[in-house]
Amino acid sequence: MSTSPEVIIVGAGLAGACAALELSRTREVLVIDAVGAAAGASGAAAGLVNPFMGRKARPVWQLEDALTAVRATIARAEADDLFDGRGVLRPVVEDGQAKVFRERAAEFSDHLTFLSAEAVAAQYPAVAAPAGALWVRTGGAVMVPSFVQRVLDAAARRGATVISGQHVSAWRSTETHATVTLDHGEELRAGHVVLAMGYGGIGHPALDALELRGVKGQTLRVRLPAPHTTDQLPPVAGSGYAVPVPTDAAHRTLILGSSYEHHFTTLDPTGAATQQILHKTQRLVPALAEATIRGAVTGVRVYAGQRNLPVLAPLSDAPRVWAFTGLGSKGLLMAPLFARKLRDHLHDPSGVPAALRLKEPS
Ligand SMILES: Cc1cc2nc3c(=O)[nH]c(=O)nc-3n(C[C@H](O)[C@H](O)[C@H](O)COP(=O)(O)OP(=O)(O)OC[C@H]3O[C@@H](n4cnc5c(N)ncnc54)[C@H](O)[C@@H]3O)c2cc1C
Repeated sequence: MSTSPEVIIVGAGLAGACAALELSRTREVLVIDAVGAAAGASGAAAGLVNPFMGRKARPVWQLEDALTAVRATIARAEADDLFDGRGVLRPVVEDGQAKVFRERAAEFSDHLTFLSAEAVAAQYPAVAAPAGALWVRTGGAVMVPSFVQRVLDAAARRGATVISGQHVSAWRSTETHATVTLDHGEELRAGHVVLAMGYGGIGHPALDALELRGVKGQTLRVRLPAPHTTDQLPPVAGSGYAVPVPTDAAHRTLILGSSYEHHFTTLDPTGAATQQILHKTQRLVPALAEATIRGAVTGVRVYAGQRNLPVLAPLSDAPRVWAFTGLGSKGLLMAPLFARKLRDHLHDPSGVPAALRLKEPS
């Protein structure tokens, strides 16, 4: 273990891995995770890269830059085999949505096409879209846990060190350096510390100002029986979503999601969430009624207050310690983009867009 890196990153999920990749271009980086790569929400994500999310398919913040950043990260991590670039198909699932989708497609014609019911039936016969669908051509899906590992591997090739099984219990900042304290008492020192701890940051009194909250989610891994395959089935997102696994040579495995649980007493998968996910996804892809469940995983998405954007900011009482969290349900479109901003502004936080900074204490 390097004892004097320039940057210590706490957390090896999407945020920490992308930060490590960007920062290790020019700095000595140490990543510390309490468990290991993608142990948190990143291990449960379905992997949709959907730049037009929500019922109204609104564009993600800094749309073009976010897509550029995620594609560049996939390329740098040599993870093209983990990426399904067929776009994301969004069947109309509620009244009035066809009109909204058509308008969106006209406004963002570089990204979107509205497909009639007949066009969907011809191109994607496995998908039920009786009122048509929005085809998000610039979207896709990435297998997140493997992707996080590849990003960390790429950072390691640039000299970053990654250690697992070490829980960080505290941090502090002086004028010249920052330190983290491990559970067994050891203190590690660096120029800066980046806290990318996801759910691990919730309940930490030193992070109260971030107003972090968690929403538990569950995904299922399922397998279609022969003769069904995912060859003509792109990533599909309606009220639930079905994402083919690109690395499955038989083209029969999918990740289905997801539940949104604002109040939860267990982090374990539940039967109720499984039933809810199956119900939602079978409406989009009827053949899923025949699929067998191979596993269920959960994670907790983290949001910072009521905002829709992540937090990327130094802590007001510890200026060399940055928070990089609150990626919500858009980890893939946010983590690479914000990691670039972190790289560019680590030494001059005033350059971080105001929307991402913390409110000044009143
Ligand atoms: C069910 C579900 C489905 C999702 N689907 C999608 C999707 O399709 N597309 C998409 O873009 N996003 C999706 N998301 C959101 C995405 O998963 C998250 O936004 C993203 O993974 C968050 O990454 P993170 O690095 O901030 O946190 P995490 O992935 O939670 O990583 C935090 C890491 O920090 C470590 N850690 C915590 N505390 C400490 C500590 N004190 N010391 C050391 N290490 C610590 C943990 O072990 C963990 O590895 C989904 C999320 C869920 C839950």
